[in-house]
Amino acid sequence: MIQALLNYQKIDADLKKIETELAESPERKKAVSAKKYLDGVEENVNKLDDKAINLSAEYQQKLDELNKFRELEQELVTALAEIDDQTQANYLIKKAEELIAKIKSVNAEIVTLSNAVSSVMKEYVTIKNTTKAAQAQYNENGKKYNELKASKQAEKEEIERKLAELKAQVDPKLMDLYLKKRANKIYPVAYEVVNKVCGACSMSLSLSELNKLKNGEVIECDQCGRILYQK
Ligand SMILES: [Zn+2]
Repeated sequence: MIQALLNYQKIDADLKKIETELAESPERKKAVSAKKYLDGVEENVNKLDDKAINLSAEYQQKLDELNKFRELEQELVTALAEIDDQTQANYLIKKAEELIAKIKSVNAEIVTLSNAVSSVMKEYVTIKNTTKAAQAQYNENGKKYNELKASKQAEKEEIERKLAELKAQVDPKLMDLYLKKRANKIYPVAYEVVNKVCGACSMSLSLSELNKLKNGEVIECDQCGRILYQK
C-alpha cells in the first residue's frame, strides 16, 4: 500500500523542484517586493495628504496671527505719534515691545512650518519616483517570471502526467492525506520510521503508534505532521 505512494512521492520531487525554483527565482522575489510597495503606496500618500492639509491649515493660521499683530503694531505706532503724555507713552512703548517679541516668535514658527511643508513636498516627489521605479520593477520582473514559468511548462506537464498515472495506484484516502499535506508545503511527505522515531523530525513514537505501524498502518507524526510508515 505504501509503496505506490512512495513511487508517487519520488516523481513528485521533480515537481517540487520546479515549484521551488519558480518560487525562489529572483524574478519572482523582485516582482513580489515591488508589488508589496505598490500595495502600500496609497496608504502612504493618504498619510502624507493628511500631514500636508494639517500643516497648511497651521501655516495659514500663523499667517493670520502675524497679520493681526502687524495691524496692532501699526495702530501703536500711530497712537505713539499722537501722544504727549509720558506715562501713556511709556505704556504704549512697553506694549509695542511685547508685540515685537510676539511677531518674532510667530515669524520663527512660520519658518519652521514652511520648512515642514517643503519636506512634505520632497516626500511627495520621493514617493512618486519610488512608485515609478517599483512599477517598472514589477512589470519587468513579472514578465520575466512568466517567461520562466512558461519555459518550465512542458516539463511540468510531463511530470503531472506521470503523477496522474501513479496516483491511480495509490489508496485514495492515503492520496488525499498526502496531497493535503503537500499543499501545506510539506515535502517530502512520507517518511520511514527508523529506530522508533519519526524519520523527519526524530520525535519518539508511542507504543500504540508503533503497534499501528507494525500492523502495516500509516500514522501522522504529531510534531511535524508527516506521514510515517514502516516497511
Ligand atoms: Zn515528525
